[in-house]
Amino acid sequence: MKIYLSGQLVDESEAKVSVFDHGLLYGDGVFEGIRAYHGRVFLLKEHVDRLYESAKAIALEIPMTRGEMARAVVETCIANGISSGYIRLVVTRGVGTLGLNPYLCKKPEVIIIAAAIQLYPPELYETGMSVVTVGTVRNHPEAINPRIKSLNYLNNVMAKIEAINSGVLECIMLNPQGHVAEASGDNIFIVKNGVLKTPPVWCGALDGITRRAVMGIAEDAGYAVREDVLQRYDLFTADEMFLTGTAAEVIAVTTVDRRTIGDGTPGQVTLDLQRHFKEYVKVNGTPIQAN
Ligand code: PMP
Repeated sequence: MKIYLSGQLVDESEAKVSVFDHGLLYGDGVFEGIRAYHGRVFLLKEHVDRLYESAKAIALEIPMTRGEMARAVVETCIANGISSGYIRLVVTRGVGTLGLNPYLCKKPEVIIIAAAIQLYPPELYETGMSVVTVGTVRNHPEAINPRIKSLNYLNNVMAKIEAINSGVLECIMLNPQGHVAEASGDNIFIVKNGVLKTPPVWCGALDGITRRAVMGIAEDAGYAVREDVLQRYDLFTADEMFLTGTAAEVIAVTTVDRRTIGDGTPGQVTLDLQRHFKEYVKVNGTPIQAN
């Protein structure tokens, strides 16, 4: 496998970063997870834009233009013969001292990995998945804003540990006010009386690229879509519920805290959106081809 590492494609065995990199020492950096489908990098511009916004929010200056970054992603796919797969784009603060001061880190490191995708078990897409609410509260927006896709994912990792220890693969994270924020690695939607509802990002959610795409697809398909503050009550009484994310795509949730959502099977709106999404990914991406 060839890895893009600060301007060069190097062999996997050569792709090494310093133990003094603040990405490692402090989780100081930003990242993106991107899908490639059928020879296209899905919504590449949107992902690159979000990466630069995350970087801006932590005062990290990425040493290349957005265009150069997008090109580097495509080149990394070409170098690895990837036409469908998963791309991890990472920008670390770079090498610094053992102290926190990010201004002493002179050169951010840019890493791009293009590999196969690891998915939820396929049967979960048939049956829907079970989730639990966890005690780990989503980061306060004025501590680390959940809109920043930072390398500091301990908040999500702690939540994931609770989910797995409870025997499920995903969880519902609440914000400090007790409102529904998001899952540990996905956004949350419910369907109630034919209306799609998802928490606004200010409730403590990442501005998910899949979330945005699904909101657009749903509107085009004639559904009403609303950003709404959601309480656990809204989940328990929803007709349908599903999660969205780059890796998960659109996946139904059929139980929350062992309570059945709707009739306990993936709902009709969810199934319809899954069908639309499969078509959408075929045409909305940057072609993986040489310049
Ligand atoms: N929330 C969190 C915390 C995430 O890490 C992700 C991405 N895995 C998402 C939501 C979904 O975002 P996207 O659709 O852009 O992948």
